Amino acid sequence: MTVVPSALDQDSCDTAIRASFLHFVADPDHFSDACEYFDDGLMILKQGRVQMLVDAAEWIDMLPDGSALYDYSGRLVMPGFIDTHTHYPQSEMIASYGLQLLDWLEQYTFPTEEKFADREHADKIAAFFCDQMLRNGTTTSAVFATVHSESVDAIFEQAQSRNLCLVAGKVMMDRNAPESLRDTAESSYRDCSELIRRWHLNGRGHYAVTPRFAPCSSPAQLEVCGELLNEHPDLYLQSHVAENRAEVDWVAELFPDSRSYLDVYDSFGLLGPRSIYGHCIHLDQADRERMAASGTAIAFCPTSNLFLGSGLFSLDDARAQDIRVGIATDVGAGTSFSLLQTLNEAYKVCQLAGQRLTPLKAFYLATLGAAESLYLDHRIGNFAVGKEADFVVLDLSASDLMQCRMENASTLEERLFALMMLGDDRCVQATHVMGKRQYSRGQ
Ligand SMILES: [Zn+2]
Repeated sequence: MTVVPSALDQDSCDTAIRASFLHFVADPDHFSDACEYFDDGLMILKQGRVQMLVDAAEWIDMLPDGSALYDYSGRLVMPGFIDTHTHYPQSEMIASYGLQLLDWLEQYTFPTEEKFADREHADKIAAFFCDQMLRNGTTTSAVFATVHSESVDAIFEQAQSRNLCLVAGKVMMDRNAPESLRDTAESSYRDCSELIRRWHLNGRGHYAVTPRFAPCSSPAQLEVCGELLNEHPDLYLQSHVAENRAEVDWVAELFPDSRSYLDVYDSFGLLGPRSIYGHCIHLDQADRERMAASGTAIAFCPTSNLFLGSGLFSLDDARAQDIRVGIATDVGAGTSFSLLQTLNEAYKVCQLAGQRLTPLKAFYLATLGAAESLYLDHRIGNFAVGKEADFVVLDLSASDLMQCRMENASTLEERLFALMMLGDDRCVQATHVMGKRQYSRGQ
């Protein structure tokens, strides 16, 4: 509920943004009035937080002296995009040709991740990754590092220097991986405990216990994951589940007593609020019921799923159970840092599965829906009063083709759909983090 003050003064405003605004206040699947749109809006900020969002014409003359005004008239401002699953160390191996999950890990991923024993390399790629986030309008990411603690320090430091909101953790792998990338149950407990002390709830950082996936962790290490979650309230857990058929079969061999792949994680206490699993393609009804009941979230990774030929995620099945779903790039199996391009592919995944993804639902999945899946919707995801003012300034006529298409789009939904089909980083004119401009196109 927006409480609009009758006047503005320096106590309620230090920064204002004029633009068209779109944000979600609810899930468009359930509510016809789930989004709020201002054609000529004014967002008032104080110390990086939203104070109010109003019509510009009524309020523009009331800005107090000394407040900063960003005039983005003619541009569309949306909450900063939220990527619910990605791997920063894989930035430099994006678009590596032609294999399915398990061979792809062996051939490309593990050799690439070995390089992160070198802190200098980790710093370089972490900086590149955070710059890509900003360039693409992404202000929050849930990120896998590598097995090396240094790789976790690198990504938290780079995110912190840009004030980005980050969920991240050290990959845990004590088997079925090259010797150089293996930890042990004991060493991972020690290293994670240290990293949690250093980074969890430090600024905008959140630590995630990050077992790569069940085949790479022994039962003893999965037990450690459960212990860490028990010891530290508000901790995150991120992993992969049911991505690829061969992977699902392998898990069944490794854990013959478990009812399903998801059940392996469940038996170690790894489902619940702030647990996020990438992919979730080959689940059954009992799995989905368990995810819903436990508050576990799904990261839907369409570009990755198409790229590795893993299968088609069923958004409708998740919807039917009311499971929290956020969109995710899954770089480097995912093929783009752009959440616009990721929505494009999400639409096509739904088409192939005989399902619908409306433009409103799509942008909800990249903003408020993703914030809800990370249990961060009390802080980010829309422009409600008091939220942290992360936002992206979108230029809907960034290319000749987009301009031509937009001239023939008569409704907001048509424009949004063309934006997610044709848009990419060229459309991002600026990205602001807690009010402050951290990226400006061409600068
Ligand atoms: Zn992944």
